Amino acid sequence: VGSRRPAGAGAEDTIVAIATALGAGAIGIVRLSGPEAIALAKRAFRPVRSKSIQAEETFSLLYGHVVDPMTGDAVDEALLAVMRKPRSYTREDVVELHCHGGAAAVRSVLRLMVRLGARTAEPGEFTRRAFLNGRIDLAQAESVAAIVAARSSAALRASVRQLEGGLSERLRSARRALVRSLGWLEAALDFPEEEVEEVDRVLVGDSLAGVREVLLGLLRTAFVGRILEHGVRTAIVGKPNVGKSSLLNSLLMRERAIVADIAGTTRDTVEEQVEIGGIPILLVDTAGLRVGGERVEQLGVQRSMRAMEQSDLVLAVVDLSRPLDADDRRLLAGAGGGRWIVVGNKRDLAKDEGARLAEIAGVVKGAPKGEGSEVTGPEGALNLCAVSALTGEGIDGLRALIQAAVTGEGGIDLEEPILASERQRVLVEKALEGVSRAVAGVSGGESEELVCEDIRAAAESLGAITGENLTADLLDEIFSRFCLGK
Ligand code: GDP
Repeated sequence: VGSRRPAGAGAEDTIVAIATALGAGAIGIVRLSGPEAIALAKRAFRPVRSKSIQAEETFSLLYGHVVDPMTGDAVDEALLAVMRKPRSYTREDVVELHCHGGAAAVRSVLRLMVRLGARTAEPGEFTRRAFLNGRIDLAQAESVAAIVAARSSAALRASVRQLEGGLSERLRSARRALVRSLGWLEAALDFPEEEVEEVDRVLVGDSLAGVREVLLGLLRTAFVGRILEHGVRTAIVGKPNVGKSSLLNSLLMRERAIVADIAGTTRDTVEEQVEIGGIPILLVDTAGLRVGGERVEQLGVQRSMRAMEQSDLVLAVVDLSRPLDADDRRLLAGAGGGRWIVVGNKRDLAKDEGARLAEIAGVVKGAPKGEGSEVTGPEGALNLCAVSALTGEGIDGLRALIQAAVTGEGGIDLEEPILASERQRVLVEKALEGVSRAVAGVSGGESEELVCEDIRAAAESLGAITGENLTADLLDEIFSRFCLGK
């Protein structure tokens, strides 16, 4: 906390950007931040009631017109919001012009502000200033980027939680524990004759082991961040005509993939995103899986295989209205384990559903368990359900199975802080390495100097996540990934 930068560091110019998504929204916001923000707005804004913007209190909202002071032409009707420093997003003077939506209005207001002397902001520059001025830490800045890019309600919720500082708090307290251990060890180093060594080693060992647990727990959440960002890749596989495209449609609840009566019509893979239990699921419909078959099908089969390999989850579809054939059996032989869900489709046509399901269970149980994956269900449990893609019967049960497979054992707790970016994951991994070495060193009778070195390295990695010791290069790297106006 002590290393946060002083307010106003380095920001001498006033920046401007369109803060809302370009498109057909009802309003578009042009945002200014910096020492000249209020003065610039004053030159181009004619309030209807108030005499002077400078006199306006912070958090006031004025109604008026944006007027080009050179020509006297009205550019747009607008609301002007004044947020004086330090109580603003950037901790600088911030002014927002709420204009009419649509690209034309906001662009002319932006151009006018640039003509008057503002500089167009770089991507993420507002958030960068908020960070440099100590309003948010780096992990929080990253969640702003994540919120902007959030693909699903769960991703959004996780990002908001992070912005509230859950992850930062956990990292800081881990870092504090490391610094404390460092203090104890250094005391032992500086005053060896005091014979505090024995006690300290036990204390330090316990404390480090505690930090190690916290870091391990955080690392387990890294895949959640990845899933929330990219979606759970889910391949729908099975023979031609078992109803893969229909199943995709049924999960999407709209017509997207082309359904046809002729076997092997889905030659290309189709990808669609649905949200199940707040988690983005990327459904990949593959071409009918059939070993051998005609040449044109072959390409599609290879795609299916690849899609399965690259997926977090596989929906293996079989037709309940017919007995299993060799192709079905070959597919099911590879199923089993938490990564697989076997879907018996066309239950509306099935004459003996129970017998079919028992047959499937027999084939899957007999098969060796597949490779483990990050998305894991209860070991050994068979995820099997009967549905009708046509009538929608059983589809809710399938959704529940998908959700359980993703969030089940060792899965997702969206209320807990998560590692949202690759950068955070790498740094926590580095910190964990250092802490683990230190734990081993403490119990193995390693010298204090070496243990201290490991702890210091770990503390530095953790500090880098929240931005407590950073180089300008790293800053540029992170903030350049932002959208403009944020
Ligand atoms: P795909 O080749 O595996 O993608 O199969 P399609 O989704 O194209 O479906 C093949 C045929 O089976 C189509 O005529 C669908 O209308 C039909 N079909 C799919 N699911 C069901 C179902 O649950 N019940 C019934 N009765 N027909 C289905």
